[in-house]
Amino acid sequence: MLTHNLGYPRIGSKRQLKKASEAYWAKKSTLRELLQTGADIRETNWKLQLEAGIDLIPSNDFSFYDQVLDMSLTVGAIPERYHTIVTDQKKPELDLYFAMARGYQNDGLDIIAMEMTKWFDTNYHYIVPEFKKDQTFKLFSKKILDEFKEAKRLGIHTKPVLLGPVSFLLLGKEKESGFHRISLIKNLLPVYIDILEKLENLDATWVQIDEPFLTMDLSEDEKETFKYVYGEIKKVCPSIKTILTTYFGGLKDNLALATSLPVCALHVDLVRSPEQLDPVLKVIPENMSLSLGLIDGRNIWKNDFEASLKLIEHAKKSKKENRLLIGPSCSLLHSPCDLDEEKNEDSLSIEIKNWLAFSKQKINEITILKQLSLDKENDLVAPIFEKNQETIRSKISSPIIHKPVVGDALKGLTENHSKRKSTFSVRQKLQRDNLNLPLFPTTTIGSFPQTKEVRQWRAQLKKGVLTQNQYDELISKETEAAIKWQEEIGLDVLVHGEFERNDMVEYFGEQLDGFAFTQNGWVQSYGSRCVKPPIIYGDVSRIEAMTVKWIAFAQSLTSKNVKGMLTGPVTILQWSFVRNDQARSVTCQQIALAIREEVKDLENAGIKVIQIDEPALREGLPLRQSDWDDYLKWAVESFRIAASGVQDKTQIHTHMCYSEFNDIIEHIAAMDADVITIECSRSQMELLDAFAEFKYPNEIGPGVYDIHSPRVPSIDEMVNLIKKARAVIPDQLLWINPDCGLKTRGWEETDDALKKMVLAAKSLREEP
Ligand code: GLN
Ligand code: ZN
Repeated sequence: MLTHNLGYPRIGSKRQLKKASEAYWAKKSTLRELLQTGADIRETNWKLQLEAGIDLIPSNDFSFYDQVLDMSLTVGAIPERYHTIVTDQKKPELDLYFAMARGYQNDGLDIIAMEMTKWFDTNYHYIVPEFKKDQTFKLFSKKILDEFKEAKRLGIHTKPVLLGPVSFLLLGKEKESGFHRISLIKNLLPVYIDILEKLENLDATWVQIDEPFLTMDLSEDEKETFKYVYGEIKKVCPSIKTILTTYFGGLKDNLALATSLPVCALHVDLVRSPEQLDPVLKVIPENMSLSLGLIDGRNIWKNDFEASLKLIEHAKKSKKENRLLIGPSCSLLHSPCDLDEEKNEDSLSIEIKNWLAFSKQKINEITILKQLSLDKENDLVAPIFEKNQETIRSKISSPIIHKPVVGDALKGLTENHSKRKSTFSVRQKLQRDNLNLPLFPTTTIGSFPQTKEVRQWRAQLKKGVLTQNQYDELISKETEAAIKWQEEIGLDVLVHGEFERNDMVEYFGEQLDGFAFTQNGWVQSYGSRCVKPPIIYGDVSRIEAMTVKWIAFAQSLTSKNVKGMLTGPVTILQWSFVRNDQARSVTCQQIALAIREEVKDLENAGIKVIQIDEPALREGLPLRQSDWDDYLKWAVESFRIAASGVQDKTQIHTHMCYSEFNDIIEHIAAMDADVITIECSRSQMELLDAFAEFKYPNEIGPGVYDIHSPRVPSIDEMVNLIKKARAVIPDQLLWINPDCGLKTRGWEETDDALKKMVLAAKSLREEP
């Protein structure tokens, strides 16, 4: 039996990559320094896995931004607009790469970034490959080969990881009509074969090819493509050992397909879908190895060794031991780096810490499981097994997890809790009288730049360098300045700026009961952006008001309406590490009740507009369409529980970003928010079509500029986008706002962009 890993986090246990990339982008460090940081992280990760005893250690799991963008660059899928960076500017490969990810405003050039979207049902975002009808491919970036050689020089024989060709195409988007991207496979496959041959020449033995789409609904055409691709690979590279990995769900109706492909090994996710082991074992060919994904790559709980050993034992009954591999369910990209970095018992008690395992610990779990499966009585590992079981038992019975009052509150929920008093048309009228807004009201999504200073104050507060009063004073000043500035530039509905918040989920989690926190549990969200998801370990309840103080303060400074800003229950759930001992829907309802209390408190404090952000609603969608309705039902209901405790004249906003809406539009409508603001600009308002077709009845603010890039659009650009929106949405329902919050932007570009946005709105109001 072999142990392997599907991928290790590449941010560095102290977020070295974030710091190095951002310094490079700000021209505060050299390319060499950035490349060195990358090399250091790779070396650390490889050595750590080597020392733990992992047999097949991945390479090319490292990325400076995103593994899908890596693949686009590898196969030369570089959209035309970037070609001048290579040909005229002769920039290094990494600059081209970052230009594709982030846009490029330099040397008289102004090139927009590629689209970004969520990676399956995770909070990781990838850069969407762009395809033309006559798309050609060629081996462009040699990263995968270089990293294999680099590890080899360190004495480590790695297993290179490739995003599979079918998934790569399916993750992309056609940039012109008249073809389906899957038809490009004939052009693409030769590049993959070229890579595999080159790896073979470098002496690579195992290669991991990720095809997560095998756990999704596939068309006949796509299934055929899988057969074609892996048949060809087998023909041309018969000696390379391919591990085909599937994750984030079960193979289900694709099981026969997956096991029919001529690959050496098939990896299955037994955390999300333990029940698939039996059917897989029944049909997997004798000569195909099976990789058991036993360790949860998506969550932070310790593995239950007994449960995993049962699965291994079961597999051993029908599969020879030398045809078995064990590993994590998916890449550890989605897990934090190292639990040993957690030293603060105030945020993470010893009791809770003892229930957890991060990437480094998970790597050890894999090798221990192997030893246990070889000999459970072994003196070295038997005590580890005992301790593991003791921990699992202590968690089940711990009194810090179960709170009877929370259960009672859930039982008290009735239908009325998830219904506003009147229908939207009635509310709309009352809200118009209450708010007095112009046509095309302008607003923002909530956060303003979290400058170095603001983050420093928070760090100093934590260290005790600043007292709470001093910190509050600084935040008040910042909020005050933001209110004044918004009045000056002429926005209609103001926000307080979220300066007091470290993160839109952590901020709430820290004030709710049932949450624990890490100091260093960072996970990559996109590019250099990392998030530190809270850990929901027990029943959730609100202890006291969480946002009223700051919102009411901001409102006291202006006669304009300040929008109260909350994170919705589904998003809090989705962006936290959740309990694995109760249904997600139950945890979500608990959070919804806590947010509902907060919404009511804001209303009582005189706040007339309250936004409940649900950017993660879509990413919570199960991968299989047949499971969608069930999820959407409880997710929408949770939002409605949170939103429905207020009077009709109080305006509830919600906000969503980076998602398609067409296939869930009826559920978005069922949320019944008075106003929804959505990300729209990168897709050039395409996302709005779903709302138009559905005749979405409530008000809507399609984002008119992309906030994930420092690029500032012109007034005309925004006017044109709004015109596109007006073509499909009635004027009376339209709001004008950016795509998302502005916390990752600088003040200079924010000021510039928002002034232009307000001017764009004004120019349209003045048009007849
Ligand atoms: N209110 C949040 C902000 O502006 C929303 C962020 C988000 O949608 N991701 O930062
Ligand atoms: Zn957003």
